[in-house]
Amino acid sequence: MKVLVPVKRVIDYNVKIRVKPDGSGVETQNVKMSMNPFDEISIEEAVRMKEAGVAEEVIAVSIGPQQAQETIRTALAMGADRGILVKTDANLEPLAVAKCLKALADKEQPQLIIVGKQAIDDDSNQTGQMTAALLGWAQATFASVVKVDGGNAQVTREVDGGLETITVTLPAVVTSDLRLNEPRYASLPNIMKAKKKPIDETSPADLGVDETPRLEVLTVAEPPKREGGAKVEDVAQLVDKLMNEAKVI
Ligand code: AMP
Repeated sequence: MKVLVPVKRVIDYNVKIRVKPDGSGVETQNVKMSMNPFDEISIEEAVRMKEAGVAEEVIAVSIGPQQAQETIRTALAMGADRGILVKTDANLEPLAVAKCLKALADKEQPQLIIVGKQAIDDDSNQTGQMTAALLGWAQATFASVVKVDGGNAQVTREVDGGLETITVTLPAVVTSDLRLNEPRYASLPNIMKAKKKPIDETSPADLGVDETPRLEVLTVAEPPKREGGAKVEDVAQLVDKLMNEAKVI
């Protein structure tokens, strides 16, 4: 079984996001970039499947600029076998990303695509679902346990108020949630080995995908600044403030 794992290059989750002064987006110049955390979880899951003898090959795909190759190298250092860079300088929307993934799936014929539940930069939570729809495949979103058994996958999903376990027939798209696993750190020998693993290059145009955006970002703004709190002397003062200042009781 081949497993395809999309890995997105995003602003590192530790970086404090700065909005551009003209409100057109966020500052990405001279900012540390890393693999989307949910994609690290997907790679870890796929590599564990390979180690368990369930998967034969793990392919990491990134759609982005030349530097997205570094993100693919990280996936290769974690244990993926080869990479595909779909090179573009445009910021592709989830639908265009899903179309690229569909084109690659048609070519590579994986039995499983493990997509992150969301990218931490756009928070869209759309790509996995759209990819499944375009392929006409089953989908199991927000996975916290995935067990592949023959032609099926049993997936435990994180739903409101608990867990739901479903069975989907393969090929399928699974989206990974935070508790699926704890991704490994790549060891130095594996980082060195990853340099020799192959990365193919293609482009949205080669895959027949139109990059034209369908959404227009009107404005991006920082969240409102938090106002300082105040200490109250006693319960009576608290109740008074809640009644007369905040007017919530
Ligand atoms: P989103 O729907 O944008 O929240 O993204 C969900 C998931 O789709 C991510 O965690 C990635 O697995 C995948 N994805 C989205 N955009 C890209 C991209 N440009 N390159 C690779 N994978 C992507």
